[in-house]
Formats: sequence, C-alpha cells, structure tokens
Amino acid sequence: MITAEIPDMELYPDGYKAVKNYMMHGPCGDLNPGCPCMKQGKCTKHFPKKFNNQTNFDADGFPIYRRRNTGTKVDKNNVFLDNRNVVPYNRNLIVKFDAHINVELCNYSRSVKYLFKYVNKGSNRATIGIECSDTPTERDEIKRYLDCRYISTTEACWRIFSFDIHHRQPEVERLPFHLQGENTIVFQEESADKPFGGLTIIFGGDFRQILPVIPKGTRADILDASLNSSCLWPFFKIYELKQNMRLCCGRVSDSEAAEVTTFDKWLLQIGDGSFYSDVDNDLIKVPTDICIMPSNDPIGSIIDAVYPSLLQKYSDPTYLQERAILTPKNEMVHELNDKIMKMIQGEGRTYFSSDNVCKASVNTNDEDLLYPKEFLNSLRFPGIPNIEVQLKVGTPVILLRNQNQSEGLCNGTRLVVTHLGNWSISANIISEKNIG
Ligand SMILES: [Zn+2]
Repeated sequence: MITAEIPDMELYPDGYKAVKNYMMHGPCGDLNPGCPCMKQGKCTKHFPKKFNNQTNFDADGFPIYRRRNTGTKVDKNNVFLDNRNVVPYNRNLIVKFDAHINVELCNYSRSVKYLFKYVNKGSNRATIGIECSDTPTERDEIKRYLDCRYISTTEACWRIFSFDIHHRQPEVERLPFHLQGENTIVFQEESADKPFGGLTIIFGGDFRQILPVIPKGTRADILDASLNSSCLWPFFKIYELKQNMRLCCGRVSDSEAAEVTTFDKWLLQIGDGSFYSDVDNDLIKVPTDICIMPSNDPIGSIIDAVYPSLLQKYSDPTYLQERAILTPKNEMVHELNDKIMKMIQGEGRTYFSSDNVCKASVNTNDEDLLYPKEFLNSLRFPGIPNIEVQLKVGTPVILLRNQNQSEGLCNGTRLVVTHLGNWSISANIISEKNIG
C-alpha cells in the first residue's frame, strides 16, 4: 500500500518516525529558496501538493494520493510540514529498511518501463579526488573524466548465468492483423486442437467503424473478410461498451442529454444495419438539421455552417473551442485552411520548414541536383507537415507534440496565435485545463 500522509504518532510510532526522518519533502519554496529542488523560484517536484480527501487518478493515469488536512505536522529544520509535503511511501518498507524509499504504483502498462529502467541503470556514483594544494601534481584530464561505468556483483552474476531479465504473466502478445500470412501464433501442444491453441486472445475495436480493406472488393467480399464471418466467431465472447460517457459528466442539461441519446441511438442503428429509409435497405436519410444544403460553393457552405459570422467572432476562444471541421483527407484540410486564412483580415506570415538535403545520408555528391528544393517542396506526405504554413494573428492552431504535459502543452492542445515573430510564435492555450 502506498500512502502520502503522516502516520498517527500514537498508533504507528515507528512509521511516524520513519516518515518524519526520510519522507518529508522540503522545506522548500519561500521558506527555503536554496533547496536543491528549487528552480526559477518553483519547486521542481511540485511540493507542497494540494490537500485531497480521496486518492484518484489524473487524466494521464497517474495517482493523486489522499492527503487530508488533518492538522498533523512534523517539525523539519524548525519548519512545520503537513501532509502536503509527504513523499509517497510504503510504511513497511521504510520502517524495515530505515531509509528513504520511493515507491511507484505501476497501474499503467507504460509505467512498467520504470521497473526496467531502474534495474538496468546501476547505482548512482560519484568520483571524488583529494589533492594536496602544496605539491601540484600533473593533471591527467582523461583519467579525471573517466566515467566509471560498472556492473554490480549481483547483476554480473545474473547475466553470467543468463537468467531471465524479465517475465510477464499472463503473456500478452499484440497481433497485427490485416497482414495476410504474417501473424505468428505459438500454440502450446496440449491445446493445439482448441481455437487459438486455448490461449486467451483479445480482439478490440468497433466493427461498425473498422472494416477490413479488400482492394476493389464488393460489399459481400468485405463482409466475408470481416471477423464475424470467421468460422471461429461462435467461440468468441463479446463484451460491449454501451454507456455514452458524454452523458454522464453532469455538464449537459436534461434536454441536451435527451437530444444526444436520440442521436446516439440513431447512429448505433445505422452501425448495426437496422435503420434504412428505403425498401431495398440501401439508403439512409440524414435529418435536415445535420445537413448542409447543396450549393455552388460547397466549401464555403461548410465554413459558413460550422463558423457562422467568422470574421466578427474568430478572436473569441469559446467560439473556436466549440467548433472543428473534420475531413477524411489532409488535402481537404489544406484547401479549407487556405480558404479560411484568406477570409481572415490582417497580414499573414508564411513559415517554411527546414529544407536542406542531408549530406550525410547519401553517398553521391550531386543529390542537390537530383532532388532540387523545388521538387522536394512540392511533395506531400501523410504524417509530415507541408513545406510552408501560413498563419495570421488570431488563428487557431493545434500542437502536435507533447511539449510540456504539466503546463498543458500536449499533442492535441488547441491554441490561438497571439504574435508572429521571426523565429518564434506566441500563442494562448484555448483547450483543456490550462486555458490562457
Ligand atoms: Zn521542493
């Protein structure tokens, strides 16, 4: 069990002592600006944490431990620290070993990497040299900077005997599908006659959304290739996700919820193939309120429908937050962007991506001639941005990197451009919790 509160002094005197001695962070902050954790006036470990009545998880799956405001305090260097400054600990471990021990909850499969990281990294090390200042000896700089990497005795033995470095139970193997004849499945002999060799295999996804791709195939071909047409399908146990989480978050009114439920049902019926508007079960009539009427300028109509009064409102973050146009292809995105960018007033700025031909990667000397910049710039690749991007102040942009998650700069964060510089762009966050 991992705890982040000071133990009761009467009930658990040993635990109390160990937490007081080893697991209290700080004092740092204004009380101790010279604390090693301090950088630019802030504690890099984010202490003191907030009081919290219940352990819960943040959006990334990291635990936020219970730290109740109990009034319990411990004295550290004449500063009284409370539950907000406790480094999460396991009481049995710190009492038994009488030491500072960091514990981490691996509730997330991706946290497991830390197990391997710490096993393989070796202990911290320092090289200390003591010199006499009276008799200056010759300095061997190479020797001074030799980084003494080593393998500890236990690890060395472990490797010499070729013991397993890791082991997983039950075994989970990700099987790529859609790749014909490329799936290796290992069957245990005694279960070879059972489907999938008796192994538990999980297939995930929504068949309404993800259909197999049969080049030039008919509807029947596609259906025939889908998982539910397999002779193994009767052996599957189906688990469904049925609850619409958007309706549970409490922010929607009853009438809105009813509207979404109706839409939701309609959408599911289409997916299940149980809703058709004609006798041949071939066509679906889309309600007029979610349709855009045909016009001579379809792109203009879409922009008008999704962004009404764009020119008056485009600088309003709420207006931008609530809207987005999704398109199946990037080409369409560029066309929409160009059109909207031209509508918005003000001087734009065009930014180019780096476009040098890498000298080191090819052995010939005339790659510049073979691949002129103009040609390279005309290429469009999925997953790689185009050579140029045009921006204006007030236009929304989306960040595509996890730059600083604690500051809310993540892949998918939406921002509005506030300044366009030569080498940098300033922008304000308009989505998620770090707005502004
Ligand atoms: Zn600190």
